[in-house]
Formats: sequence, C-alpha cells, structure tokens
Amino acid sequence: MYISKSFIPILKNNPSEAKIKSHQLMLRVGMIKQSSAGIYSWLPLGFKVMKKIEEIVRQEQNKIGAQEILMPTIQSSEIWKESGRYEDYGEEMLRIKDRQNREMLYGPTNEELVTDIFRSSVKSYKSLPQLLYHIQWKFRDEIRPRFGIMRCREFYMKDAYSFDISDKEAIFSYNKFFLSYLKTFKRLDLTAIPMAADTGPIGGNLSHEFIILAETGESKIYTDKRIFEVENAETKLEENSLENLRKKYEQFYSVTDDKFNKDEFESKVSEKNRLKTKGIEVGHIFYFGDKYSKAMQASVDLPGGKKDFVKMGSYGIGVSRLVGAIIEAKYDHKNEIMKWPISVAPYDVSIIPMINKNDSSALEKANQINSQFIKNGIDAIIDDTDENFSSKIKKMNLIGAPYQIILGKQIDGDLLEFKETGQEAKKINLNQIIKIIKEEKEKI
Ligand code: ATP
Ligand code: MG
Repeated sequence: MYISKSFIPILKNNPSEAKIKSHQLMLRVGMIKQSSAGIYSWLPLGFKVMKKIEEIVRQEQNKIGAQEILMPTIQSSEIWKESGRYEDYGEEMLRIKDRQNREMLYGPTNEELVTDIFRSSVKSYKSLPQLLYHIQWKFRDEIRPRFGIMRCREFYMKDAYSFDISDKEAIFSYNKFFLSYLKTFKRLDLTAIPMAADTGPIGGNLSHEFIILAETGESKIYTDKRIFEVENAETKLEENSLENLRKKYEQFYSVTDDKFNKDEFESKVSEKNRLKTKGIEVGHIFYFGDKYSKAMQASVDLPGGKKDFVKMGSYGIGVSRLVGAIIEAKYDHKNEIMKWPISVAPYDVSIIPMINKNDSSALEKANQINSQFIKNGIDAIIDDTDENFSSKIKKMNLIGAPYQIILGKQIDGDLLEFKETGQEAKKINLNQIIKIIKEEKEKI
C-alpha cells in the first residue's frame, strides 16, 4: 500500500483536546474520528488493528469451546423488566421508542437477551454446559466520556455467557474463561493481571477484572508484585488444572480500589512486594449463579426429573478499548515511537524510500521489495511521497509497523537497512528480512 493512496489522514501536531497518549496518537495518525461526544468512526488504520484484536479474541473463545452468535444492538425493554434491571440500570442506558411507541433500548450488555435465547430452546441438563459469545457494539451513556475510545459511549465488546447445571460446573466454565483471557492478552503482548473485583450492577459473588498497568489508567490497583511471576503455560483445559491456575493467582493479594482494605494489604503483603499503581481494565468476568435465570425462569430438567434454574456467568473484553490500551502500554514517549505487536499491527513493515524529483530509483526498489513481500504474505506500507526523509521517518514511527526498511540514496548491493522500529538498523538481504518477519508472524 502506498501512503499517498491510503486513507490515513495524519495531523501535523497532537490534537489539543486529547489528554492521554492513546487518544492523541489515534487522532494524530487518523485511526479514528469523533462523530459526536463519545462516539467514533473507525478509519482504515484503526479498524485494521481492532479487527486483528477481535480475531485473536475470537480464536481464544473458540479454543475453550465457546460458540459464536450475534445478538442485535437494539433490544426490547420487556426482558429487562423481567430481570428487574430496566429501572436499576439508570441513565447509562440509552432508551428509545419505536413508531408503535414500544420501549426499546441500545444494549449496554446482554445477560437478559442471551437468557431469553437460552430458555426458549434448552430444556435439559444434557445440553449443558453452553458457552455462547458475541462480539458486538454496546452503548452506555457515560456521564463523562473521555480519553477517546478508552471511555466512550459506543464501544465494541466481546461478551460471553455460560450456562451450567451446578455451581461446581459453573466454576469450571468460569475458570475456562479465566485461562482464555490470560492467553488472549498474552497474544496481544500485554501483561494483564486478574484482580478480585466487585460485581457491581451485574451482581453475583465471584469476579475478576483483568488489568494492565498504565499510569493513565482509571483503576487504582493494590497488588503483590509476585503475581507477575505466575506461569500459565502448562495449564490444561481440565477442571483441576484450571482451578489450580486460578488459585495460583489468588494466593497473592491483588485488588482494585472498590475492594481495597489498607490493613489487609499491609498484613498480607510484605513491604518490598507492595505495589500501588494504576491500570486499565481490559476484561471483566463474573459468576452470578441463578440471578438472571431465576428472575427470567430459565430452568432445565435435572437427571432425577426435577427442574432447576441454570447457573450463569458473564465474561467481557473491551475489544475497542484494547486498541488504546496497547498504545498506552507500548508507546515510547521519549523517542515518540509506537511499535505495535506484530499480532495486531496495521502493517508488518514500512518501507521508507528517499525520493527526489529526478531520482525515483529508491521507489522502484521499494516496489520490487514489496512484490516479494506480497508473495510471502507480508503486509507493507510504502511512503511514496516526496516529503523530506526525516519527516517520513517520524510519520512511520507513529504509524507503528514493527519493522522498517530504509532506502537511502545509495543501496549497498543486496544489503538493505532494516530495523525493528525503535532499534538500531542492521544491513541484511531481503531473504533474511522475509525470514525474520515470517518467523515472528508464525509465533502469533
Ligand atoms: P469500567 O469500570 O471501565 O466502566 P465496566 O466495569 O463498567 O467498565 P464491564 O461491564 O465489565 O465494564 O464491561 C466489560 C469491558 O468492556 C470492560 O472491561 C472494558 O474493557 C470495556 N468497557 C466498559 N465500558 C467501556 C466504555 N465506556 N468504553 C470502552 N470500553 C468499555
Ligand atoms: Mg468491569
């Protein structure tokens, strides 16, 4: 892709309305455009990143046996009246009336709708467990939308729901999501720590928030540093193994401010292991038993012939928020460089040829390189403009492809100036470059 032909509306300076890096960068390189307060359009660069995140989230849901569905954004108020949340949800819910004067709403979450789908078709314990998810826009009329897509009103979320016959089975489902979240964030090259959390308006008794550390985060966190050393590589998708994994995390004190208790923190965590900092909530999982199934009469036949309400959990990931969260975690402030993890990068590599009015040989070289990249499934962006060389490099440093090829005036035989964005350049040939990038992409 040539930069001159791409729809990447770059701004010369950081927009003054943006307070944190992710918001600044996303506006600066034209990843998003605000359409009204807390509502954004996603432009090609931003949309590409979000779609790659979505795909990783999807793959990790499928791996634990969750099945994808798609529920609508607009819901009827009826089911929310059944659960009792129509009033409780308050002003964050966007309420709409259709032409028949029926009360509708733009879904802020989907417990009611999915319970309604479940109860109309599943009648027996034999069909359990059921893990259903969808990836869909949500609307919450946040009182103060801020930080761009980090806290906005319309946002893209993966939400999953589990249905089980007993508490024990339901905790097994919960633990599957616990593991799948750790794996998802790892593939996004993020360290997300599971923290004991309050259940809030969703209700229930077991809950974890997945938080990534960032100074600009809105969650205050209090944790035992040793939680960062917990390993999950060997965990099998089997009941005991998953339970042990969650326990391995839970042995370390780690909470957000809702659950914080100073005495507990100081008695459980030695001074040298205490960490008080801030973070961004990228995921949240809840176990809430029969809270909705009881209110909405979602029951199944049990083995002995009796009936019981199903036990449910719900599991969210902020897919659109993750785009900003990755920037907050990865942006190099000192050198003004963004380097996307290759798993979600908008381009794998940028090619930066030095172009003069009367010399287009570097651009020709860029085209030759790109045709080899295309053959090898490598997605490159070429800066074919005649801007000066240093501003081209600055621009590519913000777009953030994880690799760069710099084609100066003189090209040294087969050897190309290649670098990992933000690192020292080295001179290697095209085959070696292709090998490096392909190997990295295979690790995703
Ligand atoms: P927060 O505490 O940040 O308001 P929440 O606890 O209300 O979030 P959940 O209901 O747990 O959110 O939603 C699941 C995920 O959706 C969150 O972990 C977060 O990543 C994302 N999310 C929630 N609200 C927003 C928002 N207003 N803008 C962008 N993403 C959001
Ligand atoms: Mg939450």
